[in-house]
Amino acid sequence: MGSGSQVLASRGHTSREGINMADFPRTVLISGCSSGIGLELAMQLAHDSRQRYQVVATMRDLGKKGTLEAAAGEALGQTLTVAQLDVCSDESVAQCLSCIRGGEVDVLVNNAGVGLMGPLEGLSLTTMQNVFDTNFFGAVRLVKAVLPGMKRRRQGHIVVVSSVMGLQGVVFNDVYAASKFALEGFFESLAIQLLQFNIFISLVEPGPVTTDFEGKLLEQVSMAEFPGTDPDTLHYFRDLYLPASRKLFRSVGQSPQDVAQVIVKVISSARPPLRQQTNARYYPLMALKAADPSGSLYVRNAHRLLFRWPRLLSLVLRCLACSCLRTRVQPW
Ligand code: NAD
Repeated sequence: MGSGSQVLASRGHTSREGINMADFPRTVLISGCSSGIGLELAMQLAHDSRQRYQVVATMRDLGKKGTLEAAAGEALGQTLTVAQLDVCSDESVAQCLSCIRGGEVDVLVNNAGVGLMGPLEGLSLTTMQNVFDTNFFGAVRLVKAVLPGMKRRRQGHIVVVSSVMGLQGVVFNDVYAASKFALEGFFESLAIQLLQFNIFISLVEPGPVTTDFEGKLLEQVSMAEFPGTDPDTLHYFRDLYLPASRKLFRSVGQSPQDVAQVIVKVISSARPPLRQQTNARYYPLMALKAADPSGSLYVRNAHRLLFRWPRLLSLVLRCLACSCLRTRVQPW
């Protein structure tokens, strides 16, 4: 546990972990549960052996609820309910909250997100704005909706599925990384005020995760033409970046189950951290940034590896994939 941990005020009977048991079951609202991390997280919380959570698993399109409901099994209607929620719509958010008993959300998990990669010249501003509408303003919209209730009750926990790209820029992911940086700045700022209300914020920062996210993105970019992009840049994107990205997912990608497990620990903690990475193999990269506040060390080395020494990059990725390094992060 880092020194930046936040401490929950404990009142009444507390468990061995220091959690106030009178606070359970807690209503947990999760966005983007039709697939990936959101679906896994909903499953793990709904099947909690101590039944500490009532999960409201939400998704934009209820037509996609089949997988979630099948996985939920007996938890459906007991510890898990499914609800429609489009994080880009005020009406949808209001409608969803009106269906929750008392409208009270104890834990909000901002998970819904979309990716975007490719040369900047070939991306329209509308496409970029859509990324911010979902990843950034979608989370802000939900927080604005649940915050008055949390403040009134003087308790709550807001979890945000950010990314290592919220800490470090990645080539050809400029807009996606910017949306995650925006989340990091917004929630770090808000965390200070909310401590006064006994409300905690946790930014969870996965590296690559093998979900639909990568598949959808790669499908999009393989069909996209990126009009207006010069041939050199297109060549760098298609022939250097994309193959390296695929290798990266294969070598250091985590499963959504592993990431959900980390989020469950964050949610059940009496001392929720403000930041929690999920993939230990990203620590050295983050250390580069800390070691050189000017940023040059990271930018120059990332540039050299991708553009000058792609074979070395392949070797590094193969080493990272080596089973002896396949340690998972145990957060606490
Ligand atoms: P995913 O595509 O399986 O899940 C994203 C979910 O968000 C989908 O269910 C999608 O339908 C939903 N969504 C998109 N727009 C929405 C909207 N307007 N309203 C409601 N739901 C909407 O991918 P995932 O990997 O499970 O992504 C979950 C989160 O994890 C995202 O915020 C993503 O940025 C983050 N993340 C993913 C990776 C990765 O490599 N997969 C890495 C780091 C962070």
